[in-house]
Amino acid sequence: MLNRQGRQTDTGEAAAAAPGTFTGNRALRIEEALIFEIGRPEVTGVDLEEGDGVVPRLGGLERAARIGLPGLSEPETLRHYVRLSRMNYGIDTGVFPLGSCTMKHNPRLNEKMARLPGFGDVHPLQPASTVPGALELMAELGRWLCVLTGMPAVALSPKAGAHGELCGMMAIKAALAARGEKRSLVLVPESAHGTNPATAALLGYRVETVPARSDGTVDPAEVEKHLSPDVAAVMLTNPNTCGLFERDVVAIADAVHRAGAYFYADGANFNAIVGKALPGELGVDAMHINLHKTFSTPHGGGGPGAGPVTLSAALAPFAPVPYVTLEGGTPRLVEHAGEGEAGRAPFGRLSAFHGQMGMFVRAMSYMLAHGSDGMRQASEDAVLAANYLRAGLKDLMSLPFGDRPCMHEVLFDDHWLDGTGLTTLDFAKAMIDEGYHPMTVYFPLVVHGAMLIEPTESESKASLDLFVAALRDLAMAAHRGDKARFTGAPHYAPRRRLDETRAARTPVLRWTPPQPQAAE
Ligand SMILES: *Cc1c(COP(=O)(O)O)cnc(C)c1O
Repeated sequence: MLNRQGRQTDTGEAAAAAPGTFTGNRALRIEEALIFEIGRPEVTGVDLEEGDGVVPRLGGLERAARIGLPGLSEPETLRHYVRLSRMNYGIDTGVFPLGSCTMKHNPRLNEKMARLPGFGDVHPLQPASTVPGALELMAELGRWLCVLTGMPAVALSPKAGAHGELCGMMAIKAALAARGEKRSLVLVPESAHGTNPATAALLGYRVETVPARSDGTVDPAEVEKHLSPDVAAVMLTNPNTCGLFERDVVAIADAVHRAGAYFYADGANFNAIVGKALPGELGVDAMHINLHKTFSTPHGGGGPGAGPVTLSAALAPFAPVPYVTLEGGTPRLVEHAGEGEAGRAPFGRLSAFHGQMGMFVRAMSYMLAHGSDGMRQASEDAVLAANYLRAGLKDLMSLPFGDRPCMHEVLFDDHWLDGTGLTTLDFAKAMIDEGYHPMTVYFPLVVHGAMLIEPTESESKASLDLFVAALRDLAMAAHRGDKARFTGAPHYAPRRRLDETRAARTPVLRWTPPQPQAAE
């Protein structure tokens, strides 16, 4: 079979005719065993002398037997992990179309800045007087976040989006307590990210689900129906997880406020509206921003996250310690509740330290490199790229909410696969053979067989065109009834189709050495 470039690929007869190999490797595709299988206990990569005359001070609790760590020399260790890493797929190897996750290109400049010794080497326990530059950066980042959201205050300590939700909802709980109220209900639209109801439940709230209308957005009249003096907050994502802008957000905010409740906005999709809309003007009381989704930084099983929460004037006093204030232009770290500005009533301490310094530096570097016009353009380009994919695929794949513009991600359902005998999962697995990481599948749950694609602003038109062409070729194969291409996929990955449910439900987390064969 000839590929696009007219080169021979190893499918079909060519593959069948290809000889096997002694090692099981296929050139650069190396069969890598588990580290326990290649390790030998007697081998070590370091040269430590057996200490003699050491008297253990563990009171008889010291280990008596080997713990069974795999032993490898340094080059063996290095090769093992480098080989594993080459089986991986990342934003640096190809288009990463996961929706609801915003795998952005992370400009290397940000990494360089985060590694400056003055930032990279600070220790969270060193005296605040020795790190005025780091505190100033935090104050400046906070200022940018307030300007970009149109909100007066920010808490920088949350270490992820979900942690930010917890922080914002704890501020809401504290504000209600300060009013002498104890409300017990939180409203969450059905398309919400799972972390929203989980956060509310963790704080002891009951969660009531608000259904969406047929166009995929939340109807203020429906919210109104659920509102009562027992509702503490509504948690709404905008743009929502279907990639649609909640155009009635102001009416929803007004209704929520009339009922004496607070409006928590899940800001994980902020990258679609930076510089275009101010959440503060939309009536938001608290919103977390996933710095790792909106302002670059590697994430997703890789780097750390950061989920600062911006707060309205009503919630600002309840932001947790520690926080940074500017006193006559000089930043000061307030560590304890009573030490800060008058009128502050922190709900407590959310985490031991003040957030993720490396993330703050990367985000600040991203903001300064882009400027306000650049950030607005990044949002516009992210939305443009998603709509480009929508336009390129909509004749072959089905859109659940009709043919209207989306925001930063485009959502397809699986109606277009009706009658093919194929599922969303089959389609996703076939994408792996084409050299792509699959899109987000089966989320959001409100859409049957969901396929959620987010290209982000950083993909070139050429890479979007190739991605569309590859998906069109697959979709046409599905329509044609070329089932073999799908049901066995992935054909070319180091491992074939896995039983993912079983892997999640009954994971084998422990390697046990093979028993020696008994002599016959
Ligand atoms: C990613 C995401 C979250 C959670 O953020 P984490 O940083 O992964 O904890 C919450 N809501 C939405 C809509 C998200 O996309």
